[in-house]
Amino acid sequence: MAASSLVEDYHGRTRTDRHFADPILFWDETLRDGEQTPGVHFSPEEKLRVAERLSDLGVSIINAGIPVVSEEEAEAVRRVAGAGLKAGILAAARTVPGDIEAVIRSGVRYIAIFVAASQVHLRYKLKMTEDQVLDASVASVRRAKEAGLHVAFVTEDTVRAPFDFVERLYKAVQAEKADRLVISDTVGIMTPLTFRWYLEEFRRRVQPLDWSVHCHNDLGLAVANTLTALEVGVTCPHVCVNGLGERAGNASLEEVAVALESLYGVKTGLKTSQLYELSRLVEELSGIPLAANKAIVGYNSFSHEAGIHTHGILAHTLTYEPLQPEVVGRKRRMILGKHTGRAALAEKLKEHRLVVPDAVLSDLQLRIKLGTEAQSKEEMVRFLTEYRARFEQPGIPDEEFWRLAKRAGVPEAPA
Ligand code: MN
Repeated sequence: MAASSLVEDYHGRTRTDRHFADPILFWDETLRDGEQTPGVHFSPEEKLRVAERLSDLGVSIINAGIPVVSEEEAEAVRRVAGAGLKAGILAAARTVPGDIEAVIRSGVRYIAIFVAASQVHLRYKLKMTEDQVLDASVASVRRAKEAGLHVAFVTEDTVRAPFDFVERLYKAVQAEKADRLVISDTVGIMTPLTFRWYLEEFRRRVQPLDWSVHCHNDLGLAVANTLTALEVGVTCPHVCVNGLGERAGNASLEEVAVALESLYGVKTGLKTSQLYELSRLVEELSGIPLAANKAIVGYNSFSHEAGIHTHGILAHTLTYEPLQPEVVGRKRRMILGKHTGRAALAEKLKEHRLVVPDAVLSDLQLRIKLGTEAQSKEEMVRFLTEYRARFEQPGIPDEEFWRLAKRAGVPEAPA
């Protein structure tokens, strides 16, 4: 696509600054961080369905969940681990013995052991000193390695932690033979340039062989920061289908994969033509609708309405499409509305083997414009009202909360 001689390609000018790992290993977090999207819950059957599709797509690692969370979660992890999938199945644990043992019992081969690293997390959340965090991390990694697991060591909020502590902590788990080191931008505060500096400094100090990044999208930079990390040479990006995850979510699988393939010409090994179907499945099972303007998989990402655009697309798709919809398993759509031009109308009629005089085409165009302008917005407003109500209070509704609280023995609140 980018190599077409019809368009200038300036990517080549930055080629010397790129150090992509080969291969790049996709680590999918849809079933763990993605399930932590407010209001989202996947049953064990649903987790298995998504895991099968992710494995078919070609991701290397699937985080199936945190077994210690609940009985159902432990069962889901066991089922995904036992399904004989090509992808490596991972489960996550805090640096707490009970968590690690639950992962060992679940039958996975990969574990992610996570602990917070920043001062604000240590002081206010964990109430632990740096030395306590370090000791718990070393003991946890040692136990998981003894059990024969491939160990990824993750710190939360890595990029807001003192670098000297980060260096000390990662070197300590490296000495315990942790296999993969994960750096997290837990609250999404990196920018591409800052992150490049951070990762180069991390590499200089810690010299990781296999390293990952986990980027959040609070400021809309998760994909940009993840791509930066890959340019630096990070081996294993964390991604979520549809960019699901806590708050504004994580780096989106489809955006990172397609950017690598189409902008940089990097072979991801992923069957990108399956991306859209996977995206729709996750939309359905998570109940989180895709934004119309979401890149790659949004309803409108391959739709054209304006006359100038449809005219261009009909002449050559490169005019207004950076990649062909088929690449990600989609179809192009021409939308009729206020901005429709005559070329689109002529094309639509031609599909039905109809050719009409220009005057008829102009008349039809005018009728379509007037038709759009006369459309009532009532139905759309009704739909949006319901939609908003659902997302303004996701999860367990308030009445249900008080019903459950009563059952649990919580006394009535004083009036
Ligand atoms: Mn996260």
